[in-house]
Amino acid sequence: MTLLKNQKRYTNNMTDTNKHLDNDFPEAPASVTYSIVSRDGYPALFTIRDSTVLGLIQKMSIMEDKLKALLYTPQVKQSFGAKKEVEYVKDASGNPMPCPTCKVGKIKVIHSPKGTFYGCDQSKFNPTTKSYDGCKYFSTVDPNKVKDEVEIPEDF
Ligand SMILES: [Zn+2]
Repeated sequence: MTLLKNQKRYTNNMTDTNKHLDNDFPEAPASVTYSIVSRDGYPALFTIRDSTVLGLIQKMSIMEDKLKALLYTPQVKQSFGAKKEVEYVKDASGNPMPCPTCKVGKIKVIHSPKGTFYGCDQSKFNPTTKSYDGCKYFSTVDPNKVKDEVEIPEDF
């Protein structure tokens, strides 16, 4: 609702001077946000604004030269579907824990909005059947914590 009001006001003021616009808008209408990593590896976001797109482009050119001079690098955003590094459950010796079901795969940590789960890296999601093919190992509990309970004693 507020946005609509602002848009209407913007339209009404289109014929007025830029000075007028700046008074009406606490946030200038043209802005760009840079996502960068500092020379020492700190990620940072900052936004530059201008009352006109042309003014913004001029500021961007100055800003980018400055960023290069400071040895800042662009931060590459991880896009949707990008391959994330797999986090494995470690066994007592610090190696990825082998899957108890297939003995071939390793147990990976799955972070989801519903919680943390544990699955086998040999199971592959099948988009056609909407289920997992391959190894069926799945646990809601850290395998390091259930290990003692499920392990069958040698003299069994
Ligand atoms: Zn497995």
